[in-house]
Order: sequence, then structure tokens, then C-alpha cells
Amino acid sequence: MTKITRETVQDSLDPTDWQDLREQGHRMLDDMLDYLKQIRQRPVWQPAPQAVREVFRQPLPQASGDLAAAHATFMHDILPYAVGNAHPGFMGWVHGGGTPVGMLAEMLAAGLNANLGGRDQIPVEVEWQIVRWMRELFGFPDTASGLFVTGTSMANLIAVLVARTAVLGGAVRYQGMASGGKRLTAYTSAGAHGCIAQAMDLTGLGMDALRVIPVDERFQMDIAALTAAIAQDREQGYTPFFIAGTAGSVDVGAIDDLTALADLAQKEALWFHIDGAYGALAMLSPELAPRLAGLERADSVAFDFHKWGQVPYDAGFILVRDGTLHYDAFASPAAYLRRETCGMAAGSPWPCDFGPDLSRGFRALKTWFTLQVYGAERLGMSIAKTCALGQYLKQRIEATPALELLAPVALNIVCFRYRCDDADRVNAAIVIAIQESGIAAPSTTTINGKLAIRAAIVNHRTDTVDIDALIDAALKFGESIAHNRNDHGTE
Ligand SMILES: *Cc1c(COP(=O)(O)O)cnc(C)c1O
Repeated sequence: MTKITRETVQDSLDPTDWQDLREQGHRMLDDMLDYLKQIRQRPVWQPAPQAVREVFRQPLPQASGDLAAAHATFMHDILPYAVGNAHPGFMGWVHGGGTPVGMLAEMLAAGLNANLGGRDQIPVEVEWQIVRWMRELFGFPDTASGLFVTGTSMANLIAVLVARTAVLGGAVRYQGMASGGKRLTAYTSAGAHGCIAQAMDLTGLGMDALRVIPVDERFQMDIAALTAAIAQDREQGYTPFFIAGTAGSVDVGAIDDLTALADLAQKEALWFHIDGAYGALAMLSPELAPRLAGLERADSVAFDFHKWGQVPYDAGFILVRDGTLHYDAFASPAAYLRRETCGMAAGSPWPCDFGPDLSRGFRALKTWFTLQVYGAERLGMSIAKTCALGQYLKQRIEATPALELLAPVALNIVCFRYRCDDADRVNAAIVIAIQESGIAAPSTTTINGKLAIRAAIVNHRTDTVDIDALIDAALKFGESIAHNRNDHGTE
């Protein structure tokens, strides 16, 4: 065992030469600022060579290394091979772009190393500030609660847990799902994100208890079908308890008729949850906010600051109308978490009383900086801009005979394809070719059985030149891939 001597006591993990570290730290900061400033000059994405992968298959280092060397490895072997969502040409899936302000705030948060599980500290107050701002933005009452989580997948899971406890009572926390002898059923649309079904799985309700309601031609949940499904379940002895509407569906960006869902949930006394992962923050745009009418009537809303909010990953959020129900679903007494009215154990309730995490990072800080520095108006304008770019892309597709629009463009997601024989195969290959070219990064989805090139414009840096580049690349690769196929007969 190490003997405590003067030397070992001094041997903390802090540097012996702070000046040296300071200079190295400034170089690291400069590199990241340069990266963001010059990001357009880089490919969106490039596949990593095997040699680069090998760098990360070395044994556990035993001896001390050098920070400058680790930084060099980062610059050489990590940074160039990220997925590229900070790049304006990135349009795959639904990824936020991040901001330099968010990056700097992350550094401050990491330096402070606050644990936001609870206790009497202003970092927790910063999280509560975000809760108050979100109540204000979404028109929720002062009694609403909120919590940062990793992402909307976790936020949706929390919503199901709160709704489950609300309908079955606190006994379910002790006796499990069998406690009330009820068979709960939940409802969502065919366009809902897979994490709703996953939440049913993880809560023990089971994925079969989720009724997947068809969508209409605008990709909104079919209200008549939903009403009928609830009635049928009641007839068969089930206990309907939860409707998950979607505000900004992941495949096409559709917004369910939230007012109709709110009316139905009210009439049937069901919990009305909204998965607003990326779409809910459209509330920041006065132009888009009316499209979310009905959201203010939800029992809970799950959304991400890391998508349209441009906060660096990760920053998901759950807002619950009835903060008491939220607390009752998670709070538990533990001797080592005993509360006081003063001292460091004051300030109850704590964030850990509203979710499954005890130790939690300071996600609130990068979000606070983002809202504080850019302001709601400017963030709202950047959100509206991505929707305007969606319309621009739609118009370009409609004006290009070789391309075909596959779904209406409600917000910022555009699904289209190159017209040709064997279109599914060709369009999948077009997307891979575009990604590998580094020009742009769309992804794919399936719309009415057809494989679509899907562009989700989420990044505040994206502009018309990036849309033009995507169109040009789709045409160029479409022509060569479809043509090659004819040349070679099969394939
Ligand atoms: C992104 C997304 C999710 C999942 O959110 P994460 O933050 O990735 O966990 C859920 N629903 C919708 C509609 C999404 O767009």
C-alpha cells in the first residue's frame, strides 16, 4: 500500500505546471473554435480507415501519458471521423448542430463538476430556471415539474411511468404491474418513434399493450381509428390509460391533431402525452407555434434541447403538468439522502426525486447559456429557417422531373427519391454514395412501402447552398447508379 508521504499527498491528478496546462488548454480550445469556424471546408463524414480503428484497440495504458499527445490523437484520429452533425450538410436522422456557446458552457460545467442529483446548490436552481422557462414557453401551470434526462427516449419512458403510477396508484411501485389486476393499454400512431414501444417494454407493460393507430394521408394519427380502438379495448376489459401524440414525427415531421387528441383524452380520462422530441421547440417560433395548438393541454411533454434547440448532446427534457404525480412516481426515502431545512441537504425536493438518475451532470448549464446568449427569438428564427429550407428543398424537387416528393413537408423533413426502375435499391445506393462523397448526409426511411431519401434539416448552419448540393448529388449519383445497372444488366 502507498505510504502517505509529503510527495504522495501532493500527487493529485492536477498538473505540477499549471502554465504548461494552460497553454495546452488554449491550443485545444483554439482547435475546436477553428473546427467550427472552418467546418464547411471539411467533408460532412468520411469512413474511418482500419488503421484509425486500431488506435482504439490498444491495451489499458499503465503509465502516464502526455496531454498534448492525447490531443494530437483526438485531432488526427477522432475529430475527422465523427458523424458530422455539426456540419451544415448533415441532414440525416434528426441531429442538432451544436453551437460554440454550448461548447464553452460544457467546458465550464465540466470544470465545476457539479452533481445535479440534489442538495442545496445554485446549479440545481439553474435547472429549475429551465423548468420555469419551459412552463412559460408551453403554457404549463406553476405546479408543473420538469427534469433534464439524456434524451426523449428516456423522457418518454418517464412519462409512461408517471402515467402508470397515476392510474394505478402508489401501490404499483411496491406490488408491480399485477397490483391493480388491470390490463393497461396505450395508444400512439404508426408514425410514432420506436422509443414509445420501448418504454412500454421497459416499464413491464409490454409492447403488445401499445395500440398502433394508423395515420391519415397527412401522416397524422387517425382520430376515428383511435376512438374505436379505445372503445374496443374497454369492451374487452382492458384499461386504456395513455395516449402518446407526436409533434414532429421522426420520418416525415408530421404533427398529430393535438387539440383533437387533448379533447379525446379528456373525454376518456386518459393521460395525454406528447413526444415532441424535436418538434416541441417550434414553440420558440411565433410563426410555427400555432401549429402546435393543443400542446398546452398535454399532461406531459418530452423533448430534446439537443435537436432544434442546438444544445450540445445530450439534453433531453420531460415536462409534467402535475408535479406532485411526477414526484410520487419516483421519490423514495433513503437514509443517505435525508433532507434538512438548512445546510447542504436542504432545498428538497431534488432532481433525483423526479427520475431514476441519482448522479446527474449539469445539462442545465449549456441549455441556460444557449437560451441566455441566443435568446428565444433568435433560436425560434433558426428553427423557422430550417422549415423554410424544407420548403425550398420541396420546391426544388417539384421542379426537377427526375425527382419525386414522397410525403408532405409539414416542418423541416423532406422525403423524396430519384425516379427510376428498381428505385428502392437505387435510392439506397444514392444515399450511401452521397454520404461517402462527404458532400451531404441524408438518411433513408420508408414511405408507403417506398424507400425514400430523407433530409431532416435541423442544423442552424444549413443554407440553400447545402440544399442545392444535396439535389445536385442526388441527380449525379442517381444517374450514374441507375445507368450502371442498365449497363450491367443485373445487380
Ligand atoms: C429523436 C426522437 C426521439 C428520440 O429522442 P432521443 O433524444 O434520441 O432519445 C423520439 N421521438 C422523436 C419524434 C424523435 O425525433
